[in-house]
Order: sequence, then C-alpha cells, then structure tokens
Amino acid sequence: MTGGDSRPVSDQTIDDAVLPFAVEALDLRGCLVRLGPSIDGILSRHGYPPPVARLLGEAAALTVLLGSSLKQQGRFQLQARTDGVVDMIVVDFDSPDRLRAFARFDAERLAAAEAGGAASSAQLLGAGHLGFTIDPGGAMQRYQGVVAVSGEGLEAAAHEYFHRSEQIPTLVRLAVGQIVTAGGPHWRAGGLIVQFLPESYERRRQADLHPGDAPEGTPAHDIAEDEAWIEGRSHAATVEDHELIDPSLSGERLLYRLYHERGVRVFAAEEVRDQCRCSTDSIRAMLQRFTPQERADMIGDDGMIGVTCEFCSQKREFDPKAFG
Ligand SMILES: [Zn+2]
Repeated sequence: MTGGDSRPVSDQTIDDAVLPFAVEALDLRGCLVRLGPSIDGILSRHGYPPPVARLLGEAAALTVLLGSSLKQQGRFQLQARTDGVVDMIVVDFDSPDRLRAFARFDAERLAAAEAGGAASSAQLLGAGHLGFTIDPGGAMQRYQGVVAVSGEGLEAAAHEYFHRSEQIPTLVRLAVGQIVTAGGPHWRAGGLIVQFLPESYERRRQADLHPGDAPEGTPAHDIAEDEAWIEGRSHAATVEDHELIDPSLSGERLLYRLYHERGVRVFAAEEVRDQCRCSTDSIRAMLQRFTPQERADMIGDDGMIGVTCEFCSQKREFDPKAFG
C-alpha cells in the first residue's frame, strides 16, 4: 500500500494484535493496537465497574503500544500510583505477546465520583506517578522511567514521558468501549502511537521543543516546528475513538485513512494474548520463602492455604503439610 507496493489495503480485521507501520515521507514510525477477546477476557474476569474497566483498558492498550514499540525482548511493565479513585494499576506485557493487568479502586469513592459526574478515566486516575519498567531478562540491566500524572489522564502522561525522558516527539491516542453483540456486551480497546524519528537528531529535538523550552533570549518565533511532524501528528490526532475500537474496520484500512496521501507501509501484525505468567510452581516457591509461622497464619477454614492471583483471579490451594 505504499508507492511501489501495489498490494491492496486489507479489510481483514485482526483482533488482539499490534500493527507496526511507517510513513517514510514524514519520518514517522508507529503502532496501532486493537484488543478484542484479550481485553474482554481480562476486564470481564475481574468484574470491574465500567469506569474502572475503561481506565484499565486504556492502560493495557498503552502498555502494549509502548512494550511493542520499544522492540525490546523481555518484560515491560506499566505501573500507576496515584491519589485517584483508582489508586493503583499494574499492566505487564511480556514479549512477544503476553498481556495481564489489574487495578485497585475504592468502591465508595467510585460511587461518589459517578454520582457527581466525575468518573472519566482521567478523573479516576487522579494525580501521582506513572512508572515504566523494562526488564530485558538475564544479566541485562533493568530500566525504569517515571513521569508525573497530573490529573489529565494516560495519553497526557505518555506524551510527557516521551518529551522529558526520550525527547521523541510522540502522539498517543487511546480508546476503550463496549460493543454489544448477540452474546452480550464485549470490551474492546484500541490505541495509536506515532513518533517522529528523522535521521537527524537536531530535527527531532527541534520538533520536540515546547514553547517554554526556548533558550533564554530566543524569540519564540525563531523555533519553527518541523513541518513533517506537524502534518504527521495532526493526521493521527483526527482518529476517532469509535474508529480505534470498531471491529469491522481493519487496522490497515484505518492507517490508510490517516496516511494514504503520503503512503503508509504496514508491517506484519504481532499477536497479543490474554495470558498470565503466574504458575503453581512459582506460587509454591513464594510460599516456601515464608516462615512456618507465617504459613500457619495463612491457613483457611478448609485447612488449606488459598492463593488468588490478583492479575488473572485464578485461585490455587496448597496443602500446608507439603511445606514441611
Ligand atoms: Zn495469574
């Protein structure tokens, strides 16, 4: 679907996948994520109230976008700690494809927020910090980045992160919603990340300058934003929430709508799966590290130690006698 590539735009919708793309004429790189059964499974299993599910769906879409655009092997984790109604979010994306997520919220504060019409994702998240951790595994060093969340939601926090930490001009769009089918309502999530990555670092840095960043004494009008980035960003900004989650609109078709004038190259889709990394063996090993007294305190009425995974809600039972 680019100049020289006469392949027609595919209308095949691929759910639970990341679609990397490039608009070479504008020095853009990006990824589009569409989550269907995977995010529906994660959100439904937890039984979160819709406003909480919506926020966690956004966090999951953002995590997949960041995890896959980093092209890193290993584990990518997004963690939010805030003063909001939802005061903790953890999303893990383990390369190449495993996604899991959970959120912690205060039910009373949520009811009050909903009654007061203040239960948007940004309002529920509140203010605090968003942390990104990349763990490449093995002997490689973990990398952690932290950015402030200031009540404006995850998209704004992601923009701030790329501006401050990476100095890469970046636009992120996230959308979550429920689609009603014969089988009932199903959650869907979508996200788009577009980054300006010209070969020249100076061009990139120039485009990333916020108005307040101009060196002292520099008249603001001397800092011209890069035309390619202005164009690339404004096309991405036109994407509508319903387009990001529409199950009948293929990812290729959506990218073509946004960038056909410049020619967009779409690469092979990468799968995303709703799969936890917990295992009976790892939980047994964790229990083994407690003292016999601590384990004794965990024994339930049925004489067993029950452990429920906070990510996937799977409950496992262990016989305390097995630990000696
Ligand atoms: Zn689990």
